[in-house]
Amino acid sequence: MKKNNPLRTADEPSFVSDLNHNYLYFRRTKIVATIGPASNSNRMLEKLIGAGLNVARINFSHGDPKELSSLMERIRSVARRMNKTVAILADLCGPKIRVGMFKGDSIVLKDKSIVTVTIDPVIGEGTVIPSQYKGLVKDVHIGQKILLDDGNLELKVVRKRERSVEALVVQGGILKNKKGMNLPDSKLSVSALTPKDRSDLVWAVKGGADYIALSFVRTAQDIITLRHLLKSMKSDVSVIAKIEMPEALENIHAIVDLSDGIMVARGDLGVELPARKVPIIQNKLIQLANKANKPVIVATQMLESMIEHSRPTRAEVTDVASACLAGSDAVMLSAETASGKFPVEALSTMDEVLREAEAYQFFALNGKFTRAGMDENNQLYEALGTAIAQLSRDLQARAVFVHTASGYTARIVSADRPAAPILALTQSESVRRKLNLFWGVHPYPAKPGDDVNQCMKQGSEIITRLKLAKSGDYVLALAGLSERKIETASLLVRKIG
Ligand code: PEP
Repeated sequence: MKKNNPLRTADEPSFVSDLNHNYLYFRRTKIVATIGPASNSNRMLEKLIGAGLNVARINFSHGDPKELSSLMERIRSVARRMNKTVAILADLCGPKIRVGMFKGDSIVLKDKSIVTVTIDPVIGEGTVIPSQYKGLVKDVHIGQKILLDDGNLELKVVRKRERSVEALVVQGGILKNKKGMNLPDSKLSVSALTPKDRSDLVWAVKGGADYIALSFVRTAQDIITLRHLLKSMKSDVSVIAKIEMPEALENIHAIVDLSDGIMVARGDLGVELPARKVPIIQNKLIQLANKANKPVIVATQMLESMIEHSRPTRAEVTDVASACLAGSDAVMLSAETASGKFPVEALSTMDEVLREAEAYQFFALNGKFTRAGMDENNQLYEALGTAIAQLSRDLQARAVFVHTASGYTARIVSADRPAAPILALTQSESVRRKLNLFWGVHPYPAKPGDDVNQCMKQGSEIITRLKLAKSGDYVLALAGLSERKIETASLLVRKIG
């Protein structure tokens, strides 16, 4: 005889059936993947796009800018050939500080020994470490930390000289050529946009970037400077602030306000701050971006073991799913796709993990996808977003169609995380690409005109063609909302007959 389970009431679904659902046709959380030597051939690009790449990241920290610019053009033409929308994010390396070169390519730092870090252009050896950052002596003070090689090695400044500092080795080890250097206790005097970034920016815009990510942002002024440069180039490229410095956290509200989105750059963030603080900062940044209706990308080491192995660790799978469940718009692959042995497998793994988490949210949680922060100030656009999200759940709507000229309406609806996918109809190809980063948004070319009936008609044609709706299903359409004129908008509800 079957025993009653004392932990379950009669009408409660079983724990296991809660976990068995079909995947949704449209994945809501977007995938950003870095393109590098392991993935920059046309064949690999086709495979990655076919496996669900939404945003291709080009890392200007590595490689020749001119070649990266032509890679961007090639990605664009491969995507066009496949009739797919792929956004391109050009990541400027910013003032990344590195050590110089060593005789024999490395030195050994002994615990408790004293070493000299110099700004003179010398080849390092013995206890001498050349710094490529000339502001080092000015910016660090006695007692402050110098971290090397992703924080694996640690020094403490004990003495300052005119062109060098002496430091105690707190955590020793092998230091190789050009490894990174972080000064977590110091306020850096270097600008967030280095001369290399300014020149790379020209190549990135020429190559057709949709987003520029700026590394080591510290203040809102860094974003303003980048925007001025883009304006002088007559570029409408959107700006993503990479959050990886303690100083950026102090100025985070102004930075989010002035950026088009943010990236939680956990690599350097976990060196600049104790790694144990990263999960909380990640969740707080997701909340802040959700509240500001701006996209947030969670980045770095998401499937790190897949650089070498064809399967991820359970902890990595959990990390990807957790970022999705916490409310991020996108998750990012770095070396996994840029230089790893299994780029396509890494992307497919990410796709499956996200689809699993989203199927759970859709079926078991009745389409309650996470919105981690709400804007308290109830403007018309906010009220519309909230209403559409609620209607999509109550009516189990099959899709939300939005007509969007600048991308604004799609962004507002995306921020409220409706249960139904958002089919964004826009005439601009550039807006379609940008929208590819936004949670739940799937861009399509629009016919001319912005009338809500026309939006409904065109959207209905798309989902009928995809066989995603049947007679009796509801669909929603929103049109007429604009960033400049937010007093009126038209919302249409239709039952397919
Ligand atoms: C990071 O530090 O997490 C990051 C994304 O930046 P990069 O890969 O450029 O070091």
